[in-house]
Amino acid sequence: MANAEAVAGIAANQDNVIWRFSTAPGRAAAVDPGEAEPLLDHLRQRGESLSHVLLTHHHADHVGGVEVLKRAFPSLRVIGAAADACRLPPLDLAVSEGDGLALGERTARVMAVPGHTSGHLAFVVGEWLFPGDVLFRCGCGRLFEGTAEQMWHSLQRLSSLPDATLIFPGHEYTLANLAFALHWEPDRVELLEAREETRRLRREGRWTMPVPLERERRLNPFLRCADPEFAARLGMERLSPVERFATLRRLRNDFTG
Ligand SMILES: [Zn+2]
Repeated sequence: MANAEAVAGIAANQDNVIWRFSTAPGRAAAVDPGEAEPLLDHLRQRGESLSHVLLTHHHADHVGGVEVLKRAFPSLRVIGAAADACRLPPLDLAVSEGDGLALGERTARVMAVPGHTSGHLAFVVGEWLFPGDVLFRCGCGRLFEGTAEQMWHSLQRLSSLPDATLIFPGHEYTLANLAFALHWEPDRVELLEAREETRRLRREGRWTMPVPLERERRLNPFLRCADPEFAARLGMERLSPVERFATLRRLRNDFTG
């Protein structure tokens, strides 16, 4: 049941992706529905109802559609962080690190991954990882509420999931993130190939996600801060991995390509 095609990405807001997967025949779950309408259209076309909503964090572009969806599907279960219950839409189930969830025919595991926000969650559904705004293709989220130490620790935890884990981040930022990665390693063939592939996929109107974690670890500069070879490329050999991460994250904020 855990094939990539079983997860559909639905464009919402500026550059958000709502991920939808089936939970039972005719029923589906959605991760971070920042808008209701595009998801409702998608479900209508498939003749599905919405059984569960998983919320990774409280930002409006991730939760904005929940109220309308709840009215459309009164039995919908809205799931989010217990630690952030006061600033999320009303939750039917408040969850924390290590909790297991039954989502119809699937099960999910909850990881607490602070850094982008203090109460940020990631959801692991079989081989699929929904990291919200903590991990992007070739990038990571901004440090709005957490410290660099927290974010680095969160990214390392996500990065240590099995190689075959497929990652489904909350935004399509791959091309801009690859420009930043190539700024440090302009000749690296794997990055250049990834940029070509990304351009082609976007031209065809397709998402650049998911990819297996095993590949992401090799491409994403924010996952490579403990790699001595990469540290040398950055000229940051004397810094600790977390200091390298903090420096890269700061430089990324100001990077315009
Ligand atoms: Zn966010």
